[in-house]
Amino acid sequence: MIGTPGVRQSGIVARMPSVLAVNTGSSTVKFGAFETAGGTLAPVLRGRIESHGPGRRVLSLDTDGVVLTEAPWVDRGRDTAPDLLRWVEARLAGPVAGVGHRIVHGGPDFSQAVAATEPVLKALDALAPLAPLHQQQGLAGAWALRKSHPDLPQVLTFDTAFHGGHEPVADRLGLPRVWEARGLRRYGFHGLSYESVAEQLALLDPSTATGRVVTAHLGSGASLCALRNGRSVDSTMGATPLDGMVMGTRCGSLDPGVVLYLQQIAGLDAAELVDLLYRRSGLLGVSGLSGDMRVLLESDDLAAREAVDLFVYRAAREVATLAGSVEGLDGLVFTAGIGENSPRIRAEICARLAWLGVELDPAANSRGTGQLSAAGSPVTGWMIRTDEERMIARHASRLLGLDR
Ligand code: ADP
Repeated sequence: MIGTPGVRQSGIVARMPSVLAVNTGSSTVKFGAFETAGGTLAPVLRGRIESHGPGRRVLSLDTDGVVLTEAPWVDRGRDTAPDLLRWVEARLAGPVAGVGHRIVHGGPDFSQAVAATEPVLKALDALAPLAPLHQQQGLAGAWALRKSHPDLPQVLTFDTAFHGGHEPVADRLGLPRVWEARGLRRYGFHGLSYESVAEQLALLDPSTATGRVVTAHLGSGASLCALRNGRSVDSTMGATPLDGMVMGTRCGSLDPGVVLYLQQIAGLDAAELVDLLYRRSGLLGVSGLSGDMRVLLESDDLAAREAVDLFVYRAAREVATLAGSVEGLDGLVFTAGIGENSPRIRAEICARLAWLGVELDPAANSRGTGQLSAAGSPVTGWMIRTDEERMIARHASRLLGLDR
């Protein structure tokens, strides 16, 4: 339960109220608490709950993602969010005045942050088949907190929202229009990440940021986004986060005839198709070893190398496709787990893009901080650490009026 902002229920005078950003992924929960005051957001606590062998553990992190503390994590309830809120409040000097959640799919009706009311949550639950690894996982936290902390304001922020300004032609599927009227169109995802990176690029390199940029969000989930003047023009993900890049365990773009074959000839039912395409394909399926890029890069196995080659090939091809969407390329930005941390993958992708004017500075790429491109490279390359939690907190604090 929340007390008067700025004052703890115990009566201890505290610092500013904060917003807790909860970023629920398919296997991890990333979180950040941000003090909100005077239009600024100051991170006061960051962390991650992740699976670790048979159990789970909670990590607290510094602003560079370096682990500060680590402890076993046991959920007492069915969902992590109420326990996470208690864990965070016990470590903060001030109250949590609101919670923001990352919700993957906003569908046709939710194109900006919204309060987590029951009708909204129900409408978003109905989109679960369009994002089976994420949608209900993200919503579960909001449902659980409504029960455990009914007076706590909660906001839902969407991965689709940043792509809301696409021209209709970029989002149209080649299906009869009746399906578009029912909400089946391309949306694009990882929007909170792209928004974070666009904002940082505008500060680091304003002239590139106003031009034509492709940002490659390469993590377990992977997509790329074409931006013009900091706004999304096109993205590799479509109606669902299954489209586009080959990912850790997701297949990415697939000839729809393959799905028909799997259903009609191989006899897979809907649940088996979901399992195959979302959980057993991608790097995991192709390597037969792992969906984790670090494991594949350390392996001598031929199939592991082939999975990495496919990832690189598809990423380079998607950069070129998106350069077509914005009619040229001024900047290329790498972000997320693989994009931020693997000089080798960045180098292999860029080597395939030399014809587009991408010239890496090998030393800068190895250091992996900031600008990566060689002096005089026609395309400016950057590595920028994404901060989805800050974006979640920003949208939540704005909607709740906590940002003044
Ligand atoms: P998500 O948020 O989608 O779960 P992340 O953005 O955390 O994913 O990225 C996870 C991916 O990043 C994994 O494939 C992991 O192996 C990869 N990764 C993390 N660090 C490195 C590294 N140093 N080199 C190569 N890949 C890395």
